[in-house]
Amino acid sequence: MSKEYKNYIAGEWCDAQSGKRFENRNPADWDELVGTFPDSNSDDVNKAVAAANESYKEWSLVPAPIRGNMIQKAGDILVARKEEIAELMTREMGKVLTETRGDTQEGIDTAYYSASEGRRMFGHTAPSELREKINMVIRRSIGTAGIISPWNFPLAIPTWKIFPALTSGNTVVFKPASDTPATATVFVEVLLEAGIPPGVINIVHGGGSTVGNPIVEHPDINIISFTGSSAVGKLIASSGGRDLKRVSLELGGKNAQIVMDDADVDLAVEGVLWGAFGTTGQRCTATSRLIVQEGVYDKMMGQLIERVDALKLGNGLDESVDVGPIVNEEQRKSVHDYIEIGKAEGAKLSIGGENATGGELDKGWFYKPTLFEDVDPEMRIAKEEIFGPVLSVLKFKTYDEAIDICNNVDYGLSSSIFTKNVNHAFKAVQDIEAGITYVNGPTIGAECHMPFGGCKDTGNGHREGGSSAFDFFTEEKTVYIDFSGKLQRAQIDTEQ
Ligand code: NAD
Repeated sequence: MSKEYKNYIAGEWCDAQSGKRFENRNPADWDELVGTFPDSNSDDVNKAVAAANESYKEWSLVPAPIRGNMIQKAGDILVARKEEIAELMTREMGKVLTETRGDTQEGIDTAYYSASEGRRMFGHTAPSELREKINMVIRRSIGTAGIISPWNFPLAIPTWKIFPALTSGNTVVFKPASDTPATATVFVEVLLEAGIPPGVINIVHGGGSTVGNPIVEHPDINIISFTGSSAVGKLIASSGGRDLKRVSLELGGKNAQIVMDDADVDLAVEGVLWGAFGTTGQRCTATSRLIVQEGVYDKMMGQLIERVDALKLGNGLDESVDVGPIVNEEQRKSVHDYIEIGKAEGAKLSIGGENATGGELDKGWFYKPTLFEDVDPEMRIAKEEIFGPVLSVLKFKTYDEAIDICNNVDYGLSSSIFTKNVNHAFKAVQDIEAGITYVNGPTIGAECHMPFGGCKDTGNGHREGGSSAFDFFTEEKTVYIDFSGKLQRAQIDTEQ
């Protein structure tokens, strides 16, 4: 059933000041309107930032363990609403229920982890070079955080950002992707029910240029956490850099799974199926390249093509479905454009490569799981992020060649190697240019207490997850306490 969703600004559920709204439809069934949402602009952003700044004065003084208790409660509410949230998420962005339950569970795990950080957020002490003096470092919140998220993890990614931001004492202006605004709104309801005060959390729905950009450029936003494409990330980095804002960017990937001749091939096939076609290939960590050693190539490809062919497409609410739709029309077109590019570049299309149609598939943005073979490392389909159910397969002879192929991209998010040789495994951990390397596992499967992020064009060096997120959302303050009762001048009065 469709619903009229609202913004939440300055403690009130409200429409966009312009009165405009936009629609969100189920990508597996265009006839289903999930809801309509405020189509906001900079007027709404300004109001939200003013409220967040005002609320910051009090919120930043609440003891961190008490803020953590509220986040703990948010985790409990997510547990109670898990099934309802998973179903809504499947309806608004298409991935299958098993995965939307996993997405929600990641939010729950992040809540409990963040709550526990409220009792740590450790600083440190260090000896002073002077007598009767103590040096220490404490952590302080920063101010109002602008949170901008993509649509592929509608709950997990906002929780990775917002739970640490709030636990650390910042206030939040949140702009979710306009493909997944319903899940984001439920998340805000959960935060309010958990006791987060009005004004501390604000959600403003709308587009990237109309809401996202005004958040990024707002002079009273001190810190920005963005997950999305590298193209938009670069714009945000330059604007934020100009105004000396703290900016965390989690961007695209072109992740590879390497399979050595000594690998367990059955396991490697399971891994790549899950890595490449889970979430219909629309994960930043999705396996987009399969790099296979020549000795197991034929065996691996024989099994893989058979398994890909057997994947069941459909509405993700049907528990027997393996692969849901692509998120929207534009994204499906962009995926198909890459199929044409791959064919023109001379790669061999082994399976898929077209819209999936027939029966209920005719009413959704479905695309056949696709494999390209005979891919050259310099082809665009070997180097650019496709963000859909498309896997480019490359063959190699030696370990060094595999690493060269793996690193021959601008991105550096996730990676994996399947091998039973411990030397190859550890060498790959050393040699692969990526923020994450899995050994004998697919390129996807982050855990909330571990740092998450990548190198090269995947980001700007920050990490989400674990205590790294708290490093981002706090600033260090250095404190010197002199209890000598006299003026002691560092460097000058220091004993030599
Ligand atoms: P996108 O960059 O188009 O949009 C991301 C968010 O930014 C959306 O909320 C969008 O409305 C907003 N936005 C767009 N233009 C903006 C602007 N000029 N200023 C401010 N905000 C703006 O990305 P997407 O299509 O939603 O997501 C897919 C991309 O996200 C892929 O590249 C994927 O790899 C990446 N991603 C990365 C991670 C990671 O952690 N590294 C995780 C998930 C997705």
